[in-house]
Amino acid sequence: MVVRLSSRTTRGNRVAYIEAPASAAAVLDKMDHLRLGWVNCRIRPRIRAERCYRCLGFGHISHQCGGPDRAGACFRCGKKGHVARSCSQKEASCYLCENVNPRPDTRHVAGSDRCGALRAAVGIASRKWR
Ligand SMILES: [Zn+2]
Ligand SMILES: [Zn+2]
Ligand SMILES: [Zn+2]
Repeated sequence: MVVRLSSRTTRGNRVAYIEAPASAAAVLDKMDHLRLGWVNCRIRPRIRAERCYRCLGFGHISHQCGGPDRAGACFRCGKKGHVARSCSQKEASCYLCENVNPRPDTRHVAGSDRCGALRAAVGIASRKWR
């Protein structure tokens, strides 16, 4: 289990990020409060979906992958042969949301806060342990 403390927010609070497997996360979620030294923390779970290194999608890992092989592809546009730093696309285009029907706005980096494919995978992951 990994605990990281954020720097102070504008309101003077600090946020602790705890990385734990789903089984431990379920226990933490029931505790509601957690004592870290002399600090009493409120717990809000934040679920991260697994990421596949093959198709760069979420919600599964590479040996369960049925998607296209995007290993080493640019994460801004999903094409191979260059990295994101030298990407010539003016706007990022999400290769994960591209195949969703009806097609959402794909002008975002895959797996960013605006990515619907990531949000869907996180939703499935959180239902698993609740
Ligand atoms: Zn995959
Ligand atoms: Zn690119
Ligand atoms: Zn997306």
